[in-house]
Amino acid sequence: MLIGIYTLTQQRDKFIDEMLAEELRKFDHEVVIRSYIHGARESICYEKPDAVVVPMIGGEYKMDTIKKCREWGVEVIVRRGEAGMGRDQFNDLDDNRKELMLGHWDYGPYVDLELVWGPEFAAVLAQHGHLPAEKIKACGAFAFDPYFVKDLTAHPDRKETILFATGFSTADCLPDYCETGLPEGSSYHEELQKIHADARAAWLKAIHELVRCYKDEWDFELKVRPGETPVVYTDKVPSCVKIHPEGASSSEVLKTIDVLVHSGSTLAIEAHLLNIPAINFCNVNPDPLLSKVSPMVEQYGELEFMLSRLMPGVSNVRQPILDELIDHLYGPIDGKACERAARYIDNHLSGKVSKVNIPTAWPQEAKYFVSGDTLHLEKQEGDFRWSCPCCRVIFWGEQEGTHNCPYCNMKINRTAMKPGEKEPSRKRAVVSSTLG
Ligand SMILES: [Zn+2]
Repeated sequence: MLIGIYTLTQQRDKFIDEMLAEELRKFDHEVVIRSYIHGARESICYEKPDAVVVPMIGGEYKMDTIKKCREWGVEVIVRRGEAGMGRDQFNDLDDNRKELMLGHWDYGPYVDLELVWGPEFAAVLAQHGHLPAEKIKACGAFAFDPYFVKDLTAHPDRKETILFATGFSTADCLPDYCETGLPEGSSYHEELQKIHADARAAWLKAIHELVRCYKDEWDFELKVRPGETPVVYTDKVPSCVKIHPEGASSSEVLKTIDVLVHSGSTLAIEAHLLNIPAINFCNVNPDPLLSKVSPMVEQYGELEFMLSRLMPGVSNVRQPILDELIDHLYGPIDGKACERAARYIDNHLSGKVSKVNIPTAWPQEAKYFVSGDTLHLEKQEGDFRWSCPCCRVIFWGEQEGTHNCPYCNMKINRTAMKPGEKEPSRKRAVVSSTLG
């Protein structure tokens, strides 16, 4: 059968989706991997897969995509990019957060199989979520599979390198932003924004201080978390700090560094699998276990002291915490999550015959069009062109503003450029800093 895997993020999912594709090919399936946001709809209409593997369902675009797939006879398989939660943690959440975790939209009628990480979260989903237990399969910790692929390339001689892996995306959100699924005006977001902004300020100070004192002993690199852009850091860190481009995969970046400084990230576990010591500096992760996987420090002096005591090449992971995460959250970390996922997919598809009936173009229905708004489907006098990065349709409206796409409901900002101002080029900014 032809299986289309639709990748949500370059950084987090692409390598894992490639591994899953390799495993599926061993069962004689034909597999294509495309971008979920920018290519799924074209791929479905032109390549006509018998089954699709899509990320966690949330939002109208994703719901519309799987509804159409179901209508056209395509098998829909969801692979969750994140681990979810353990039972105790889930029970402690308020109802809004619970709903976000389970999926705010009822995708049950349109999904045939959901692949998750750990068995405990699978049981939580089966009890409270949208699918019955037999459609939910725990496969193990997907994110860590790439670390079990043997890489025998030798690295050239270089100074020992500290990687600063940031995690402060909420600091850059618009002040009135409210996470989809949370009630409007919820203070949760405002609190988080302050935590992220304060932690980023402390990091920038620490980076300057470390570079000033230790640039002869160490090299320094910086990698942003998905959701943050490197541009935020280019003119705020010393020019000798190498900034990785936005889509850089963590497994590739970690292979060339010696010490990781993070703020409560799963990267700590990825580093551990490569025998890289890690420090959690100014933790922003609310998860009580994940935040404690690495030793935690809050002050610059403690960070400096800890760095002087670490041994490159020796992991400093707190094993009892990691064991608890494996038991309650991730499931096995053994490099075989994609292998298990491929087996579940193959079992699900076995004996099925291709029955898809897919049109040659995605139907364009402006089902989220709000009349009376300043937005128009046909150009009117004085209108500016708007285009949706998600479903790629064109519509018309004022020069500057925020609207939901009338076709897929994605929120889009359009800002006017001042005369003579060039559109900022992310790539150029990053490259020049990297060469810096
Ligand atoms: Zn759209």
